[in-house]
Amino acid sequence: MKKEVIMIKNGEIALKGLNRKTFEDALVKNIKWRLKSLGKFSVTRAQSTMYIEPMEEGIDFDEAVERLGKIFGIAAFTRALVTEKELDTIKRDAVSYLEDILPYAKTFKVTAKRSDKQFPLKSPEIQQELGGTLLRAYPHLRVDVHNPEITVTIEIRDFGAYIHANQLPGAGGMPVGTSGKALVMISGGIDSPVAAYMMAKRGLELHAIHFVSPPYTSDRALEKVETLCEKVSEYSGRIHFHCVPFTEIQEAIRDHCPEEYFTIIMRRLMMEISMEIARKNDLKALITGESLAQVASQTIGAIACTDEVCTIPVFRPLIGMDKNEIVEIARKIDTFETSILPYEDCCTVFTPRHPKTKPDVEKVREAQNAFDFAPLLQKAIEETQVKQIRSLS
Ligand code: ATP
Ligand code: MG
Repeated sequence: MKKEVIMIKNGEIALKGLNRKTFEDALVKNIKWRLKSLGKFSVTRAQSTMYIEPMEEGIDFDEAVERLGKIFGIAAFTRALVTEKELDTIKRDAVSYLEDILPYAKTFKVTAKRSDKQFPLKSPEIQQELGGTLLRAYPHLRVDVHNPEITVTIEIRDFGAYIHANQLPGAGGMPVGTSGKALVMISGGIDSPVAAYMMAKRGLELHAIHFVSPPYTSDRALEKVETLCEKVSEYSGRIHFHCVPFTEIQEAIRDHCPEEYFTIIMRRLMMEISMEIARKNDLKALITGESLAQVASQTIGAIACTDEVCTIPVFRPLIGMDKNEIVEIARKIDTFETSILPYEDCCTVFTPRHPKTKPDVEKVREAQNAFDFAPLLQKAIEETQVKQIRSLS
């Protein structure tokens, strides 16, 4: 009967202002999905705690813990050992279960909670007994009831005794899916994967769109973006990936539009295609990795020009962040090293020598209208390739 489980207490579920049941159902579903390939788990709720239990032998529990730490909607969680409700067994198991923690602490205390009132000892007695045992096993320790480094908790519940001593940080945020679905415009850069992660954290299920311009951009560049999506999907879950052929459109911009507006017009056309893909897939917002003033196309004026063509919300979670803050998150979610691989993105093809940092919306519209892009947009949308990307782990 001895086994390790994961417990998530009510207060550790990052619920705010959403219907609790919808939220918890989504969280349970996401947890089951993400653990499925590791083996059989049961996810149950009892009293105010969610229990995640392996249901077969040989499951890689450390990997399960690792994956849980990336599921949005969980603020914190605890690994616990479940053992028989018998004092000597509890003592013996606590000494060995905590051997990775207690030798490194100086002070501790024991807290007991007894929801099974049949158990012969009361909570203060359990605390004393177990505290004494742990002090004998780890004689360097001191008890500090006010400010202990480690709190060893023993919970006597209906189905067993639960021993645990440290809470792990969760990924925070809201369960993916509870905020709806959105389309992230993803490049091979540092920023957009971080933007994708941040919005998945707020409960959005993700589709991703990427524009390619072969032969100006290579297969390796596309593979790099797919790798980035795979890494983001460790947090966001499955991503529907839309790959749009953009070469003809870019060549048309080059041939028919004033050079100073190349980038702005290109971004407007990207937005138009993205909105159509969003409409077809019932996606309610676009997400970009823009950060104010980072480059010429990310000034207020330039953003106003791209926003003009958008009729659904455009989320820019990085808008007020510095590059070093963005990089810190990119490192945390392990996209940074992939992002800095030096492959050409379609944005760097035909870049104007002197881009307008204060473009005039009227003039941009006029410049764009000099050519009828509609048939090319239609063709690009028809030739868009879709596939599902999910992390291998
Ligand atoms: P990133 O680091 O995400 O590439 P960036 O700072 O290089 O961003 P830009 O190249 O100006 O910025 O692109 C701004 C945003 O436009 C990106 O964050 C991304 O959301 C979107 N974008 C750029 N290139 C592409 C592309 N090839 N396909 C899809 N979206 C793109
Ligand atoms: Mg870029």
